[in-house]
Amino acid sequence: MKNIAVVGTGYVGLVTGTCFAETGNNVICVDIDENKVEKMKSGIVPIYEPGLDTLFDRNIKEGRLSFTTSLKDAVDKADIIFLALPTPPGADGSADLSFVLGVGEELGKIISDYKIIIDKSTVPVGTAEKVHAAVSKNAKVDFDIVSNPEFLREGFAIDDFMKPDRVVIGTESEKAKKILNKLYRPFVRQGNPILFMDEKSAELTKYAANSFLATKITFMNEIANFCELVGANVDDVRIGIGSDERIGKRFLFPGIGFGGSCFPKDVQALVKSGKELDFNFEIINAVLRVNDVQKLKLIDKLINHYGELKGLTFAMWGLAFKPDTDDIREAPALYIIDKLISLGAKVIAYDPEAMQNVRTIYKDKITFTDNQYEAISNADALLIVTEWATFRAPDFNKIKHKLKSPKIFDGRNLYNLEDMEGKGFYYESIGRKTVLK
Ligand code: NAD
Repeated sequence: MKNIAVVGTGYVGLVTGTCFAETGNNVICVDIDENKVEKMKSGIVPIYEPGLDTLFDRNIKEGRLSFTTSLKDAVDKADIIFLALPTPPGADGSADLSFVLGVGEELGKIISDYKIIIDKSTVPVGTAEKVHAAVSKNAKVDFDIVSNPEFLREGFAIDDFMKPDRVVIGTESEKAKKILNKLYRPFVRQGNPILFMDEKSAELTKYAANSFLATKITFMNEIANFCELVGANVDDVRIGIGSDERIGKRFLFPGIGFGGSCFPKDVQALVKSGKELDFNFEIINAVLRVNDVQKLKLIDKLINHYGELKGLTFAMWGLAFKPDTDDIREAPALYIIDKLISLGAKVIAYDPEAMQNVRTIYKDKITFTDNQYEAISNADALLIVTEWATFRAPDFNKIKHKLKSPKIFDGRNLYNLEDMEGKGFYYESIGRKTVLK
C-alpha cells in the first residue's frame, strides 16, 4: 500500500487515482477547480467514463479515495505524486507546460521528505529535466522525477488502466524503479511488460505512439478518398490489408478525421519539437494537412450533392470526438457545425453524452434534442458524425418517415452497403460507392 497524490482530476487523473485506490492504495486527488472537487466530494463523477462510477463509489466508501483543493494537504501525506495536468497546445502548436512546471515549483516549496514526482501528462522530450529544475528551485529535500506517460483511451479508460498493454517508466533512479515496479505489478498480472527506460525515451514513446496511430487513421482516410475516385470499396481494401499481420486489423477504419484531446495536439507538438531542432517531420506534417481536409469531408459531400446549403436543415447524430465519451475537444463535429452555420444551414443535434458540453459553446446557435429520432424530424438529411452504438442499428423506417427526404451522409461507415440497397435511402459514406435509393 502506498500513499498517493494525484494532481489534476481530468480523464487521466481521476482514472489513475481511482484505479490506484482500487488496488489498495490510499489516494488523494487534488484539483484547482473547486466546483469539480465539491462534486467529487459529494459522490458525483464529473466526467463520463464507462465503469468509473462503480470504482469511484466503492473506493470513496472504503476510505481509500478522497478529494481536496489543497496541494499541500494531498502532498504531505503522499509518498508518490502523479501529475495529470493539462498540456494544451500553445499558440504555436507546442505543448504548454505552464501547468506542469507551475505545480512543479509549488511542490518544491511544499515537500518536506523524499517524494517520487511522476509526470503522467503528455509532454515533449526534455520536460522531466525542466520539472526537475522547477522543483529544485525551492526544494530542500531529495526527490526523483519520473516520466510515466499514460496510454489509456477515453471510453475504455478503466480497462486500459487496469490492464495496460504496457507500462512505460522513464527514470534512472533505482529507488523509484523499485517502488513503481511494485505499484504497477497488480496491473500486469497477465504478463504485459513494465518497460523501464530513460526519461527522454519515455516522453518520446508517448508522442511516437500517438503520431503513429494518427498516421494509420490518416493513411486509411486517404486510401478511402482514392477508393471513391476509382470506384473501389474501402471495406474490402481494409480487410484485404488488415489480414496481413504486419499491418493488423485495428485502427484501419476510415472516417471524417481524428479529433480529441490527444492526437491533434500531440502530433502538432511533435512537429513543433522537431522544428526547434531544425528537424522536419515530413510524414507527420502531411498527416496534419490531410486530417484538416478530412474533417470537412461531409461538408464537401453535401456541397457536391446540394450545391447551396443555405436554408437547409441537417440532423447530426454524434458530437463527441468518439463514442463512449462526453469529450468534444477537437471533435470533427465542431468543425462541421461551424461550417454549416457559416454556410447558412441549420443543425439539429443529438449525442448520448456530449450535448451539455456542446451547448456550452454554441448556446442556441444549434438545436439539441432528447433523442436521436427527434433530431431528424423535418431535416433535409441525416449526418452521422460519431459511431455511438445506439446509431448502429436504427429504425430505418422511422428515419425515412421523419426526414424531409430520405438521405443519409455517413461519416463513420456505420451501415453495410448491401443492407442499405433497397432500403429507399440516398446513402453516402466514406470510401464506398453511393447508394442511390
Ligand atoms: P483534463 O483537462 O481532462 O484534466 C486536467 C485537470 O487538471 C482539470 O481537472 C484541471 O482543473 C486540473 N488542473 C489544472 N491546473 C491545475 C493545478 N494547478 N492543480 C491541480 N489541478 C489542476 O486533462 P486530461 O485529458 O486528463 O489530460 C491530462 C494529461 O494527460 C494531458 O497531458 C493529456 O495529453 C494526457 N493524456 C490524456 C489522455 C486522454 O485520453 N484524455 C490520454 C493519455 C494522456
